[in-house]
Amino acid sequence: MTYKTTYPYTGEVLQTYDDATAADLEKALTVGHDLYKSWRHTSVKERADILAKIADAIIAHKQELAQAMTYDMGKLLTEAEGEVDLCASIVSYYAEKGEEFMADTPLETPAGNAHYIKQSTGIIVAVEPWNFPLYQVVRVFAPNFIVGNPIILKHASICPKSAQLFADIVLEAGAPEGALNNLFIDYDLVSKAIHDPRVAGVCLTGSERGGASVAKEAGEALKKSTLELGGNDAFIILDDADWDEVKAVAPGARLYNAGQVCTSSKRFIVMADKYDEFVDVLKDSFSKAKVGDPMDPATDVAPLSSKSAQEKLQKQVQTAIDGGATLVYRQDPVGGDGFFFEPTILTDITKDNPIYNQEMFGPVASVYKVNSEEEAIALANDSSYGLGNTIFSSDIEHAQRVAAQIETGMSFINSGWASLPELPFGGVKNSGYGRELSELGLNAFVNEHLIFEP
Ligand code: NAP
Repeated sequence: MTYKTTYPYTGEVLQTYDDATAADLEKALTVGHDLYKSWRHTSVKERADILAKIADAIIAHKQELAQAMTYDMGKLLTEAEGEVDLCASIVSYYAEKGEEFMADTPLETPAGNAHYIKQSTGIIVAVEPWNFPLYQVVRVFAPNFIVGNPIILKHASICPKSAQLFADIVLEAGAPEGALNNLFIDYDLVSKAIHDPRVAGVCLTGSERGGASVAKEAGEALKKSTLELGGNDAFIILDDADWDEVKAVAPGARLYNAGQVCTSSKRFIVMADKYDEFVDVLKDSFSKAKVGDPMDPATDVAPLSSKSAQEKLQKQVQTAIDGGATLVYRQDPVGGDGFFFEPTILTDITKDNPIYNQEMFGPVASVYKVNSEEEAIALANDSSYGLGNTIFSSDIEHAQRVAAQIETGMSFINSGWASLPELPFGGVKNSGYGRELSELGLNAFVNEHLIFEP
């Protein structure tokens, strides 16, 4: 049994789940393909109306969904509740915008009449990670529901409770069978699904290793893929930054979701004259962050998602120190059986340190000192990742000019990272390709079908 809910606060296994079989996959493919064919004869409006009901159902089940996420991967209940609200807004957004996004597009040509229509392509396999158990699924499910592409969901093996609960809610709210089929499948069955002719594409959010493996299968099967992978996002504080804003935002940009966000600020890049002050600000704030029970509203930092995540991060911090980094701060250990990781600050990470180009998925901040804006930009870009970055400046045009020089898919000015239904999300370089959310996310698995009459 691969899929189980292990509560990260106690380390206790709360529930195990039976693995899906090849027969279960075949059934899901049959049901999904039948739905794909029947959906081609129904209107976008009909699907949008069901999606609006699903948004209501998400809100109606807010507490259950939030608790399921906390039990699965340990996030703060308050953060889980916020995630549910965001997901309802994403589903509502596609319900409202669906018809507009799917409208025919006229094309200008002197050679005749031309336009393209948007059509569904088939079942999409969605391989999703545990860090936002509901949001990651909704980003793919809602736009593809509008398009008419059924989803086969392979969620992370550590969050089966949230995966199944959401699939049940979708069905109960009126979605046809097969619109979102959650399967507890292993990697071999994911591969089998990708190669099946009834499947049109695959999207994965997760690690580079997982992404490369799934994209390889997709390439062999000549299927489209999108990848949302890791990040090592820079938080650049320019010399004209508003210091009060920086202080207010920086700690949360690293500690939210116990630091387990692909687009968390992981590398803080500070001008030399402000460096010591910034380290003190972070130290002060990290020392006050309460690590503990994710169900307690007074807790600031939840446990990590799993024992292996805790062990991996501990190893990375040790590697950094062995490679010459300075451990400037780490809170005293919390103790107990939970998968806790105390807020930690590292400095003096040089280019030859093995950690320099590694993503640390937890509450560990790396602070870098630079002498100029050019150096800050060069350091931000000196990464194999290209997901997002944050830039602080009291001059917005200045910040925008810097943003345009950073090789990432997203830049956030004077704020931490953000995700909203209408804003595209995704990266470049080893952070993946393709975009989710907004109209771009809806187009990911659409057939833009040209109709031309000379
Ligand atoms: P992971 O190991 O790649 O797992 C993600 C998902 O992929 C899980 O469902 C996993 O299944 C599955 N998977 C992995 N290898 C697979 C394979 N060969 N075939 C089929 N499925 C496979 O990633 P993770 O370490 O849990 O997640 C954290 C990573 O995700 C971080 O790097 C983070 O930055 C990234 N992330 C990116 C974004 C974004 O939008 N860019 C958002 C969130 C997280 P199992 O659970 O069964 O192994």
